[in-house]
Amino acid sequence: MNRLRLRTPNSLPTKDDNMRIVFIGPPGAGKGTQAERLIETYRLAHLSTGDMLRAARDARTDVGRKADEFMSSGQLVPDDIIVAIIRGRLEQPDCREGYLLDGFPRTIAQAEALDAMLAEQGTPLDVVLQLQVPEEELFRRLAGRGRADDKPEVIRQRLVAYREQTEPLLDYYGKKGLLKSIDGLGTVEEIFDRAKMILDKLLGN
Ligand code: AMP
Repeated sequence: MNRLRLRTPNSLPTKDDNMRIVFIGPPGAGKGTQAERLIETYRLAHLSTGDMLRAARDARTDVGRKADEFMSSGQLVPDDIIVAIIRGRLEQPDCREGYLLDGFPRTIAQAEALDAMLAEQGTPLDVVLQLQVPEEELFRRLAGRGRADDKPEVIRQRLVAYREQTEPLLDYYGKKGLLKSIDGLGTVEEIFDRAKMILDKLLGN
């Protein structure tokens, strides 16, 4: 009797709800704001390579100094540096309960390195969320922000880096059937609801 009850649909083993998410969006799309809400709502570790690099730069570590040469001109930091950082971070225990990769991967080489790491761990990605915002709007938002890498020339370079090196990932993940795009225009609440709808559906809620 008990055995039979255990086999009812509700007690079948369900897919674990530790989500592994990649969050892609151009600079200025509002990714940071949405990331904060997502990690809180879904209890995910927040893996922002931009935050990690800024912390390394402020701590004046070797990696930080090297990274700053690229960050301050709006270029991407070399893949080997980034992949080493992420590899170490993914091994931390908090990542077992799911994570949001924010700002990584940003190149095809990084995406391939991530795939290899995840295959090794047996922990595939659940979804790649793309935040879509038109370029004119991005420039307007970034120009009003006032971070050190928000000077017009640096902004332009960051947008070029996104277009040339990161946008190809949309096709890469699209072909794997992982890509979900979200309209990034609207209020913080509206955009969050769009993301939530996608994630809740994946969780079966
Ligand atoms: P973000 O805060 O994500 O916009 O990152 C700030 C800067 O850090 C970028 O403009 C890059 O110079 C560097 N950066 C962050 N993440 C990556 C990454 N995955 N690959 C290469 N460079 C990165």
